[in-house]
Amino acid sequence: AKQVGRNHFQFFVASIDQDIRERKHLEKDLSLALPNHELFVVYQPQIHLSSQRVVGAEALLRWQHPEKGLIPPDKFIPIAEANGAIVEIGQWVLDQACWQAAHWSREGMPIRIAVNLSAIQLRQESIVEDILDTLKRNKLTPGQLELEVTETSFMTNMKDAVDKLHKLRRAGISVAVDDFGTGYSSLTYLKQMPVQYLKIDQQFVRDLLNNEEDTRIANTIIDLGKSLNLTVIAEGVETAEQATYLNERGCQIGQGYYYSKPAIAREFERFVKTFHGH
Ligand code: C2E
Ligand code: CA
Ligand code: CA
Ligand code: CA
Repeated sequence: AKQVGRNHFQFFVASIDQDIRERKHLEKDLSLALPNHELFVVYQPQIHLSSQRVVGAEALLRWQHPEKGLIPPDKFIPIAEANGAIVEIGQWVLDQACWQAAHWSREGMPIRIAVNLSAIQLRQESIVEDILDTLKRNKLTPGQLELEVTETSFMTNMKDAVDKLHKLRRAGISVAVDDFGTGYSSLTYLKQMPVQYLKIDQQFVRDLLNNEEDTRIANTIIDLGKSLNLTVIAEGVETAEQATYLNERGCQIGQGYYYSKPAIAREFERFVKTFHGH
């Protein structure tokens, strides 16, 4: 038994070693991803549930690695956050998304664009200025931009985060709390942060109607949103039953595979046209 234990241990160490090397490789490759045009942005529609209109899109980052293929953001964004590369990459996503939304507006398809803002980005001293410059450069109305932040963004320096979000709010930009209920949720944040949207994390939506606890949590978030006058967005909507339930329960917006997977801009446009047409 001892022998097995030791072998297991060695195997374990070897696999950690393997992970570290893999991560180092990815980190090195990631530093070239932007200049080599390997990054691109996909868009997932957000549907106003009671009117069945596409009201927004979330911009999500993708990395097409030359040898490894498509790498999911969960795998490389933590690396970019750890070494600071997320500042440049996040700014690039913001630029792409703002350009795209302004373009869609000019084409008669005005929608709100939601962009994920990492806690590391929010910590940058110039972030407010950078965001306002990006809007100007792309000629996008501030009211069309929504920034998705997670609760971790509020933790390190709450006052700094509050100040910056207030400045963005005064400029007309809206803020959504992403993955609500999964982090260090505190009602203090909600009271002090100028936020307009609450996003119910997909983990509570996935088993909606099958799992009583998840259903209760989703209900609680919807009620909380109502009492604080926030618009609630459910992500990870995969079935018609979930969409119907959420709508009847008072959740205003749904996003998920039931409507569409995140798609490149051209496919997103096609989705909007056929969806409105039905
Ligand atoms: P997130 O912000 O919570 O984004 C929602 C994730 O749920 C996306 O995964 C989306 O593709 C996925 N999703 C949407 N609908 C469904 C559904 O019906 N079923 C299931 N199973 N999944 C659904 P994705 O695109 O892989 O992104 C993962 C995470 O990576 C994001 O989670 C976000 O935290 C991060 N991320 C993606 N793009 C960016 C970015 O530009 N900047 C930053 N800072 N983070 C990003
Ligand atoms: Ca998000
Ligand atoms: Ca989310
Ligand atoms: Ca998430």
